[in-house]
Amino acid sequence: MTDIVVRTCRDLDEFQAAVGSIGHYFGGWPDEEAAARFGRMLPQERTHAALDGDLVVGGAGAFPFTMTVPGGEVGCAGVTVVGVLPTHRRRGVLTELMRTQLADIHKRGEPIAARAVVAAVPWFALETLLGGDVAPMREIVTRASAMRSKPIVTVNLWYDRTVMDDEFVGLPGRQMQWVFDKRRVFGEAASHLSLVASGADALAAQDTASLVALAAREVADAIPGARTARLLRGTVVREKRATFSVAPGQPPRPAVTTPVAGLFLAGDWIDTGLPATIESAAAAGHLAAI
Ligand SMILES: Cc1cc2nc3c(=O)[nH]c(=O)nc-3n(C[C@H](O)[C@H](O)[C@H](O)COP(=O)(O)OP(=O)(O)OC[C@H]3O[C@@H](n4cnc5c(N)ncnc54)[C@H](O)[C@@H]3O)c2cc1C
Repeated sequence: MTDIVVRTCRDLDEFQAAVGSIGHYFGGWPDEEAAARFGRMLPQERTHAALDGDLVVGGAGAFPFTMTVPGGEVGCAGVTVVGVLPTHRRRGVLTELMRTQLADIHKRGEPIAARAVVAAVPWFALETLLGGDVAPMREIVTRASAMRSKPIVTVNLWYDRTVMDDEFVGLPGRQMQWVFDKRRVFGEAASHLSLVASGADALAAQDTASLVALAAREVADAIPGARTARLLRGTVVREKRATFSVAPGQPPRPAVTTPVAGLFLAGDWIDTGLPATIESAAAAGHLAAI
């Protein structure tokens, strides 16, 4: 660690590289325009870079938020984009980044105070969070643990050329339900499609080669542009506990309030009347916050 210097970013190039340290995890790197845009929300002076000589090898940012607490508002550091390049892991760079950043946050007088806890973990994880006297939560936890999960299967396909014009297309009557053109997100020159199927118990049990072949068939069937394109590669992501089941006979979903004072629940599985969607998660979060 002796050769690594941690300090705030001095210019856009350093900021771009510091943010890129985490962008790298996701297979992307912000270009100058993206870095400048992001810098309008995340000031350079709130972004620390870890430097090995002239090379930025890690970064850690803090959004300058304010948090409403009883009695008024206080500054609150929203720690974000913390990352270290794979070439410099396991050398204490992250520890030093966080130490320097937290000292800076402290110096700026940004305390974080919370009177309540919102547990926003999924139904299957609630039990693992609780300690001490869990008796008051027993009924909620028992029901949550009994909720059944349903898988979502995503098949990613890379073609040698662009195959669709729309950002996403529904695939009614097929096993894959939606196809999204990821080129719109990543700006890739070639075409990367993601096909998604929810409630996909049968598909989740299939092997990768079969799923890639199925998805490619369904794309070719639905999208004329794919018929002459060459499939370069395919990957599959099976999320076994992607959503909770809404089949009859499932345990009742809990409210945001709990028998424990100051403990609230949030997440899509709370009793919002909505299925497992972002909308349900947002509605539950809103209820917990008010
Ligand atoms: C592949 C896929 C596609 C989807 N597509 C759509 C869609 O098109 N439209 C839509 O509305 N919804 C979609 N959903 C559903 C949507 O993503 C969820 O409903 C939503 O993200 C739920 O939000 P949440 O905050 O309740 O839970 P999550 O987003 O799952 O957040 C729960 C958090 O809890 C954390 N956590 C878990 N266990 C623990 C623990 N023990 N301790 C601490 N933290 C823990 C997790 O890391 C996670 O950050 C999709 C889901 C998947 C998986």
